[in-house]
Amino acid sequence: MTYVIAEPCVDVKDRACVIECPVDCIYEGERTLYINPWECVDCHACEPVCPVEAVFHEDDLPAQWAQYRSVNSEYFRDAPREGTGRADHRVVAALPPQHAVKNDLSGFAARKEEAVDADLWFPW
Ligand code: SF4
Ligand code: SF4
Repeated sequence: MTYVIAEPCVDVKDRACVIECPVDCIYEGERTLYINPWECVDCHACEPVCPVEAVFHEDDLPAQWAQYRSVNSEYFRDAPREGTGRADHRVVAALPPQHAVKNDLSGFAARKEEAVDADLWFPW
């Protein structure tokens, strides 16, 4: 069993999980981090510290990020223990810049809140 880092980490990479991991099995790519499934001891320490909720037990991965189980394992398949600093998995490399996507989403949420707060019947 292993934990998996999914898409919310892409272009965030604050490394809070790395500090918590007792076996140093979280490695850094160019745009995201990856958990080596052959080294992870399933301790759960990384999951609660992630500020963007990118870390999941492999059995709890949301359906839209199910492929990240393979993304993490394939990253190490050919070069176990040599993850740090390597180019990203092709799935991650193909993603558009996530800062723009996340800013758009937060902007949408703020505009939605403003719309809810606005009194449409008495706009003055
Ligand atoms: S579950 Fe534990 S061993 Fe596995 S990556 Fe997270 S902190 Fe490291
Ligand atoms: S704590 Fe979360 S966002 Fe930060 S590097 Fe780890 S997985 Fe990525």
